Amino acid sequence: MTAITLPLEDEVETTAYSESAALLATYKRAPMSLVRGEGVELIDSDGKRYLDFASGIAVNALGYGDAGIAAAISESLNTGLIHTSNLYRTAPGELLAAKLVERSFASKVFFCNSGAEANEGAFKFARRWARKIGTDAKVEIIALRGSFHGRLFASLAATDRPSYRAPFRPLAGAVSICERDIGELDSALDEETVAAVIVEPIQGEGGVRVLDSDFLRRLRALTEKREIALIFDEIQCGLGRTGYFFAYENVGVVPDMLTLAKPLAGGLPMGAVLVSEEIGSTIQAGDHGTTFGGGPLVAAVAGYVVDRLSDPALLESVRENGAWLGQQLEVLARRSGKVRAIRGTGFIWGLDVVESANEVVKRGWDDGLLLLTAGEHTLRILPPLVMERDDLARGLLILEKIIG
Ligand code: PLP
Repeated sequence: MTAITLPLEDEVETTAYSESAALLATYKRAPMSLVRGEGVELIDSDGKRYLDFASGIAVNALGYGDAGIAAAISESLNTGLIHTSNLYRTAPGELLAAKLVERSFASKVFFCNSGAEANEGAFKFARRWARKIGTDAKVEIIALRGSFHGRLFASLAATDRPSYRAPFRPLAGAVSICERDIGELDSALDEETVAAVIVEPIQGEGGVRVLDSDFLRRLRALTEKREIALIFDEIQCGLGRTGYFFAYENVGVVPDMLTLAKPLAGGLPMGAVLVSEEIGSTIQAGDHGTTFGGGPLVAAVAGYVVDRLSDPALLESVRENGAWLGQQLEVLARRSGKVRAIRGTGFIWGLDVVESANEVVKRGWDDGLLLLTAGEHTLRILPPLVMERDDLARGLLILEKIIG
């Protein structure tokens, strides 16, 4: 018989990552297998429940099992059209584009299938436009320190994560990273060579950094003066997460293009590029494309999601509950002594913790709370936008325990 040695109290390990035999190991996955979702909770194959402070990385804004999403999917399926290609007109995509145009600065919308694709599209549109108003030298794309814009070659080149970039060099050319400093940008933004600057109004993966409104206003003034396109990447912070439908609405700065994805189609893959009249007018048939983009099923679901996320009552509850969440996090930080800083707004918050953020996330699995990280020492909280105060409070209690 083998003797079993019990670990000492301080040697007890939290649950470890687990790998599937056949999936390419691009992710470190939690060991539980999720089989159901109900409201703001996920349920694993053992029936254990997890309160969701992650929303599938900012995707599941309406939580799980939303009846309207199910109805939109089933109504769409009843038409028999999941996909037609973009060679033909279909109503759901046109209606969705019209809704986004009506709600924003944009006059045209391009649909694709993910956030990275949306940014790649925006870069192409920026270059198309810049070549038209300038010369063939006006091609540079500038991103900011701390940015995350995706994992494809140009979006990765605009992503400030050395470990994500290094193994895949060479990345797309004429894309560079500049400090989040208006003086540095003033020198870097050469009217002759720069086509666009891309900015997340709140840097999500980069540690939940809310960019200063004054900085964004000055960047807007610079880019406008030098005829450089300003692209807002609202893939993580847009569509209600700040308590405003678009994050830019609360900053008072209007970009020339804006990218969306994550929550747009309720968990179905969809991205979008919102484009100003001026840039849109330089794009012609054949300039860009994608087989699946804006198909009837995803667009029908997104039409419903956009209506829900535009609801003033929902946005107000995100603002109010988000402000309360921020206050509670401050209290938790003071009490625990284990939190160095808190940043965020609405339903997007980052906590710099003393220990490895991953270790806290793992303890969350044990205690039934799903959290995210944003860097080695930053925990990230992105609850579904429909989460009510009692569930937020329940999550905070677990958080305090696992941080402590
Ligand atoms: N931009 C931002 C701000 C993001 O947070 C993400 C994903 O986390 C992306 C772009 C890339 O989106 P996707 O993973 O859908 O390609």
